[in-house]
Amino acid sequence: MGCPICDREVIRADAVYCSVRHRVAGHRARGRALYNAWIALPLPAEAVDAEIAIIGASPDGAAWYRLACPGLWGGSRYFPKGRRLGLSPFETPEVPRPGIYRAVYFDVWDDVITEVDGIVMLTATPGVYLSRGDTSP
Ligand SMILES: [Zn+2]
Repeated sequence: MGCPICDREVIRADAVYCSVRHRVAGHRARGRALYNAWIALPLPAEAVDAEIAIIGASPDGAAWYRLACPGLWGGSRYFPKGRRLGLSPFETPEVPRPGIYRAVYFDVWDDVITEVDGIVMLTATPGVYLSRGDTSP
């Protein structure tokens, strides 16, 4: 089978791409496709208040949260950058664009407890940029 980027023959039986460069390009293209699919998701005209949605989805023992979405070229981006938000008292989420986000919940020791999809955010937070989100929870 040929390399998905250049169609050159792939020598190694366990490899998909012909080279590291094309493997990176392939992963970036796949990431970009996931991002494009995410931004194409239709949003409802109205959404449940973010506080109600985020607190409603939080598991027992959750102390903090962040919202995540696909990155431009793969992986995920986590917001806000560099910190977690409190659930009680509730701190308002910050997101780079309208979309359907994944809530990541942390316990008091800062460990991820669970992640819940489907948090609809209809407005972006001024000054929050997708490319500046953290790449890990
Ligand atoms: Zn190639």
